[in-house]
Amino acid sequence: MDRYESRADTVVVALGGNAILQAGQRGTAAEQMANVRTTAFEIANLVAAGWRVVVTHGNGPQVGNILLQNEEAQHTVPPMPLDICGAESQGMLGYMIAQALGSALAARGVPRPVAAIITQVMVDPHDPAFSNPTKPVGRFYPEEEAERLKTERGWTMKKTDKGWRRVVASPDPLAIVEAAAIERLVDAGVVVVASGGGGVPVVVRDGTLVGVEGVIDKDLAGQRLAADVRAGYFLILTDVPRVKLFYGQPNEMELAQLTVSEAKAYLAAGHFGVGSMAPKIQAAIRFLEAGGREAVIAALGAGIAALEGRAGTRIVPDESNG
Ligand code: ADP
Ligand code: MG
Repeated sequence: MDRYESRADTVVVALGGNAILQAGQRGTAAEQMANVRTTAFEIANLVAAGWRVVVTHGNGPQVGNILLQNEEAQHTVPPMPLDICGAESQGMLGYMIAQALGSALAARGVPRPVAAIITQVMVDPHDPAFSNPTKPVGRFYPEEEAERLKTERGWTMKKTDKGWRRVVASPDPLAIVEAAAIERLVDAGVVVVASGGGGVPVVVRDGTLVGVEGVIDKDLAGQRLAADVRAGYFLILTDVPRVKLFYGQPNEMELAQLTVSEAKAYLAAGHFGVGSMAPKIQAAIRFLEAGGREAVIAALGAGIAALEGRAGTRIVPDESNG
């Protein structure tokens, strides 16, 4: 694989769900906007510190609510498929983040143009994920309704603690369709918000791009975005201060730094939660192997400290061991 020449001043910041909706909140517009404003100030501080920033973000609860609205209103308004709901969530969150960020940058004395890009991400139609759907989406259903949805809509339903839930494929992101547009905006000094919710998964069918049912992991898609803009740094802001070994066990232990080789070994040994921490570590490994300098996983609020090596877990190339 060709490695890119990374830019020391460029960071892709991946915002976790807690940047937009905090645990226990209902998800009103006011709640989400307030969270986004706080996050926007953290990003503005990064820009003020001299970073060229590209933002990506999750969309789990938001796309879940859009799906629910579609379902509740299905006899009045034709429901939209998952790819279009994903694009809707990018529009809604992109609007909120771009608006809040534009204001925060101006208030911080570092005005910059901001643009949110509705992003499509190419996936392989033969990705094994399509025959083994794992990503839960939407609401919980009682068993009889789950059975009906299986036959009527062809959904895959899985039993959880709280009831049955639809699961969809989580295919690997291959390429960002809007890469050329994003690159040009970043080069022109625009703060870009892209690949929200991992982007809308698309495939080429008979020479045409078409959306597919699935959810791409936002951290893995964030890595593709980082490679496209040749970012030197990849900052994943989530709801834990550091990555842990033996997570949730009595002997759990925080990691301040790990090399790519260590990250691979711990990943293979199952230290990281499937669908939560594992894709972040996988994305960090890919980021460094593609040419990135350092990936940092830290808590929302600790962004600057994390980039300065004072917080979070740094994943570094093997040669910087020690
Ligand atoms: P985000 O919305 O930021 O992507 P996720 O829930 O997907 O958040 O991932 C963060 C979560 O990963 C943490 O809240 C934690 O519960 C979980 N997790 C799983 N394994 C680990 C680990 N080894 N160390 C730290 N957190 C872990
Ligand atoms: Mg996640």
